[in-house]
Amino acid sequence: MDIIIATSNQGKLREYKEMLEKYSVNCLSLKDINFNADIVEDGVSFKENSYIKAKAIADITNLPVIADDSGLSVDALNGLPGIYSARFSSLEHNDKANRVKLIDELHKLGLTESPAHFTCAITYINKGDVIQTEGYVYGKVIDQEIGTNGFGYDSMFIPEGYDITVGEIDEDSKNNISHRHNALIKLIEVLFK
Ligand code: IMP
Repeated sequence: MDIIIATSNQGKLREYKEMLEKYSVNCLSLKDINFNADIVEDGVSFKENSYIKAKAIADITNLPVIADDSGLSVDALNGLPGIYSARFSSLEHNDKANRVKLIDELHKLGLTESPAHFTCAITYINKGDVIQTEGYVYGKVIDQEIGTNGFGYDSMFIPEGYDITVGEIDEDSKNNISHRHNALIKLIEVLFK
């Protein structure tokens, strides 16, 4: 069975491939189907944005599509950056600037850390059928960047049960606890169990 994974991020694609290959799923990337249009993600939740992405691609193909949307919610900031995680600093997809902005926002509140969690919403669409799942990883953010693994806010995030940041955890171990992993497990349970 072919499924389109609506991402141009090679790391994410690898993660999906690893988890879906045991169900005989062949994951196709947006590059594989020559899709390079911009999709405006103007939803108000992770779930809505993942649906917008999946629907835009489902509309031009007969194949099943998986799209996700994810981000970091910080308790002390009332859930921000949330759906604005990729552009928190106003510079689109500038991870370093986003982390600096987050440290700044914590310091403005006189904080060095705050409870936080990552969310990943997945939308699967196949011929009009829609399945949506969400996965989370809870922990805290700190006002320092430690470790060079991963991307985004990984170097500032310490998952529950750990005393190191995700930036210090190897990729395989991260993939086993990640919000994306948890959302995909829920989808697999619906699709294949
Ligand atoms: P997207 O859903 O891949 O577009 O992710 C949106 C933004 O959320 C990214 O640009 C990162 O800033 C942040 N983010 C999402 N997932 C992760 C993660 O696993 N680690 C660190 N940051 C993440």
